Amino acid sequence: MQTLISGATALKIPLSREQVEQFRVFAALLGEWNQKMNLTAITNSVEVQKKHFLDCLAGMPLVAEELGAALPPKRALACVDIGTGAGFPGVPLKIAWPNLKLTLVDGTAKKIRFLDEVVKALALKNVTLVQGRAEELGRDRRFRGQFDLATARAVARLNTLTEYVLPFVRQGGLAVIYKGPNAAEEFVKARNAIEILGGETVRFSPVSVPMLDEARRVLLIKKLRKTHRQYPRQQGLPRKEPL
Ligand code: SAH
Repeated sequence: MQTLISGATALKIPLSREQVEQFRVFAALLGEWNQKMNLTAITNSVEVQKKHFLDCLAGMPLVAEELGAALPPKRALACVDIGTGAGFPGVPLKIAWPNLKLTLVDGTAKKIRFLDEVVKALALKNVTLVQGRAEELGRDRRFRGQFDLATARAVARLNTLTEYVLPFVRQGGLAVIYKGPNAAEEFVKARNAIEILGGETVRFSPVSVPMLDEARRVLLIKKLRKTHRQYPRQQGLPRKEPL
């Protein structure tokens, strides 16, 4: 876990011995389950530490800065991770930021089964697992407008993704979206969707992941207004006909 330890230090994210151990167990489970099912294409240990763990942690300083909070923030915020897959960025954030009240959402049952095992093995508290489509859960009162933060990484293009994510955020809360090299191009096409859904871009910042020479950006969208009840649209419309 040396790569993770050096990288977290570079990001100024404090990790105790116990937290590093949680990352180690998470990596081991990822490797083990990946033999039975396709969870991630990244299997090499150092690559997992860089491209999954540090990549996810790299968004945290920006969020803390926007909240005007310490790193990790002390307030117990409610966060939902949409299309979390094998738990990214939700699980690394939860390990590094233990008082986060985390909900992990994915459409695929096998991902949720894996995450159930992870939550137990890491003894994570205040984590809720939900299997379902963002388009449906975003209309459900139990989830709509309930979160201080909503995160997503590698789920859909930005114009589609904003329609998945913003309905979950409470007024005044933040959507935290992780993007790769196509970020700028996608962003231009997503401006309209952000406006319609009640958001305002507060940051669209290049983020450097320690020891990784790849372009990354984190987009922070503040929810100014409630999302109109017609959104999110269902039956795959956010993807087929993005706003
Ligand atoms: N966020 C993870 C996984 C990315 S793969 C990571 O960064 O590694 C995309 C995941 O999003 C898949 O697990 C898929 O099941 C889920 N997904 C895609 N569209 C979704 C939707 N509309 N609702 C819920 N989950 C969705």
